[in-house]
Amino acid sequence: MVKNKRKFVTLMVILVLMFITACANVKNDNNAFVEKEDNQQEHQDNVSNEEKEDEKLDGQENEAEEEASIEEENPSVDLKALKVNELGKIMILMYHDIGEPEDVWVRTPENFRKDLQTLYDKGYRTISMKDYIEGNINTPPGTTPVVITFDDGTRGQFNILDEDGEFRIDPNCAVGILEEFNKKHPDFGLNATFYVFYPTPFRQEQWVADKYQYLVEKGMEIANHCYNHENLRMDFNTKESRDAQFIQEALGKNVKATQEILPGYEVDSLALPYGASPKDEELYNYVIKGSFEGTQYHNKAILLVGSNPARPSYHVDTNMARIPRIRASEMETENTGLYDWLEYFDKHPEERYISDGDPNTISFPKELEEYLDKDRIGDKLIQAYE
Ligand SMILES: [Zn+2]
Repeated sequence: MVKNKRKFVTLMVILVLMFITACANVKNDNNAFVEKEDNQQEHQDNVSNEEKEDEKLDGQENEAEEEASIEEENPSVDLKALKVNELGKIMILMYHDIGEPEDVWVRTPENFRKDLQTLYDKGYRTISMKDYIEGNINTPPGTTPVVITFDDGTRGQFNILDEDGEFRIDPNCAVGILEEFNKKHPDFGLNATFYVFYPTPFRQEQWVADKYQYLVEKGMEIANHCYNHENLRMDFNTKESRDAQFIQEALGKNVKATQEILPGYEVDSLALPYGASPKDEELYNYVIKGSFEGTQYHNKAILLVGSNPARPSYHVDTNMARIPRIRASEMETENTGLYDWLEYFDKHPEERYISDGDPNTISFPKELEEYLDKDRIGDKLIQAYE
């Protein structure tokens, strides 16, 4: 009888222990801060100890949260050590087609991958054109922002393959390559702006709307390259200068066509076809702003064809109506192509834009202060350091 009772108590103890252990494991699964406990001996502590442990962990969690919020307000980034310079130069890269063979206006998929890898390895991270325009630069501390642009909306930029009724993005088109690269290096950012013209951007009529939706969902951008790649300076054949009506039609019709596919989409920048602007300087106002058949447009950034890095939008030397780009090519670049500039910045790192990691602050060495246009920074905080 005594023996049986002892057996019963032992069994109960084992059952209770198993129950506690099971509970503890469930808790552990729900708490990322707790490491999974394999040693059952330790779980023989009573439930109240278990609770104390939880309280302690909650406390730690709160402390961690507080620290994070303080850090946001007052970044612990060592601006001087990182040589932060948010008044430095930013490359806006200009691509055209991606395909074979390599040519002056064509980059092969292999070379495009090489460009992305080289940029990444040298500490460049992508930002959108919108963030460039607004000066919202949030690349990690110590990195340099870069803007990737594509002109002309070619099929090599965004191609859909039809494999016996199975549709997929061509892994060798620009979008496919950018996405693949971003999967491997998420901190590179998935940013690119496509300067398209009509009637068939990306050259597959049945896919235009799907492609647009896809790009916008992924955070990439569609922008203006005139309705049909018009030269805004003059008619090539007659040499006749363009007038206000012509310019507004070429620009407004592009925006109208884009908004018919993506209602309400804001087209806010323009890449000038041929880099050509009106002869009459007064007409340039219509390149910036205008309307066509009720569609308004406002180009907050107007991109040229060559051949220098840009400055941030809040730099005194920046004219948002004439932003230079760099040709992402290795052919006929006349020492002003992507690799020439990469080499230049390796030799002159002090000229590079170096981010402080916080889009709400603009940080730079104090001696550069005169280059900051305070009227263009909104409510961002200035951190000039010595
Ligand atoms: Zn073009």
